[in-house]
Amino acid sequence: MLPVVALVGRPNVGKSTLFNALTRSRDALVADMPGVTRDRHYGVCRLAPRPFVVVDTGGLSGSDEGIEGLTAQQVRAAIAEANLLVFVVDAREGILPLDASILTELRRSGKPIIVVVNKTDGVDEAVALGEFASFGIAETLPASAAHSRGVDTLVAKALPYL
Ligand code: GDP
Ligand code: MG
Repeated sequence: MLPVVALVGRPNVGKSTLFNALTRSRDALVADMPGVTRDRHYGVCRLAPRPFVVVDTGGLSGSDEGIEGLTAQQVRAAIAEANLLVFVVDAREGILPLDASILTELRRSGKPIIVVVNKTDGVDEAVALGEFASFGIAETLPASAAHSRGVDTLVAKALPYL
């Protein structure tokens, strides 16, 4: 079985964009199968010497009740099967309360966490990283998934955990 990396975070932070950047190389094979790519949450990343599975979680959506009040079953399942959690946050919006709730949930799993500070295109990267440093996660990386920036570094940092 291939190791599994779960992409977790608030809606709209760029999880699916990052998923596409990580798995794109093989997506062409299924891109023309209706109903497959669109609903798909699993892909294989082959950007590293060893392939790994990427899970794009979409279950955290629109509620300010925190993670407990959300449809978080899918996310919990992804966390449970993951070897590594990639917590995606938005450099432009900064830390929102839901980010803190999600991080608490991720920490509870005891699994390794890498924070990806996405959407750093056009913002001061040092300032963005500085804000998210308050999470206290040693591996906090900048990225711009939309421009495939930071993806190779993420893969390199992920490998030791897989
Ligand atoms: P998800 O809800 O977390 O899966 O987020 P999506 O991947 O659907 O992205 C939400 C929005 O953010 C879309 O309009 C993306 O085009 C945009 N987005 C994603 N990544 C980036 C990025 O690196 N930079 C910028 N500027 N926008 C991005
Ligand atoms: Mg998505």
